[in-house]
Amino acid sequence: MNADTVQTWLEQAAASLHEQRDYLTQLDAAIGDADHGTNMDRGFTAVVAKLGETDGASLGPGKLLTTAGGTLVSTIGGASGPLWGTALRRAGRSMGDAATFDGAALAVGLQAALDGVVELGAAQPGDKTMVDALEPAVRTLKERLDVGSPAAEALAAAREAAEEGMQSTVPLQAAKGRASYLGERSIGHQDPGATSTALILRALELAVAAEQ
Ligand code: ADP
Ligand code: MG
Repeated sequence: MNADTVQTWLEQAAASLHEQRDYLTQLDAAIGDADHGTNMDRGFTAVVAKLGETDGASLGPGKLLTTAGGTLVSTIGGASGPLWGTALRRAGRSMGDAATFDGAALAVGLQAALDGVVELGAAQPGDKTMVDALEPAVRTLKERLDVGSPAAEALAAAREAAEEGMQSTVPLQAAKGRASYLGERSIGHQDPGATSTALILRALELAVAAEQ
């Protein structure tokens, strides 16, 4: 895997977030302020534009991710800008200047992304946030790689874990972010950030599978 893999990932994520923009915004309308779809779409559209400008593939996978993270921070006004911006910056920093990366390095990068999100937002699993999708995905990815699964298979399992985590947010009461202001009224709705996180992991699965 290399910079092209990352570029494909970010492009697939942008396409998927654009396609699901209205759905994500509807989810946020129920327990937030109805901007999550527009936030993520705006941010990832800007990422793709930025990578187009800078000839992404010449940057290396780490620098691509830190550049993408910076773009998200500067283009998304809501909570998801700094959260996803930090996630991608941390993942990029963990990959350093290497031209290629394997499954293990990707797992270290995604763990760094998760750690960054938790440091910034202080959400734990069960708080009804994007952490409920990202944490099981990272854990599953590591578990599968540890038992010798190829990266593409491990990522498919990680994406499934993210989707299960996303669904698990429905009965939860939000403890972080805007949805927490609703108290018990946040119960019974799927978290928008966990939903976009599952889409972003699905894009990663597709980008890596395309190389096999
Ligand atoms: P805002 O809440 O500022 O309108 P968005 O609507 O773009 O931002 O994003 C909302 C999502 O951000 C939530 O669904 C949740 O998944 C995530 N989120 C909010 N606060 C936190 C936090 N402290 N830690 C992790 N994720 C959070
Ligand atoms: Mg919102």
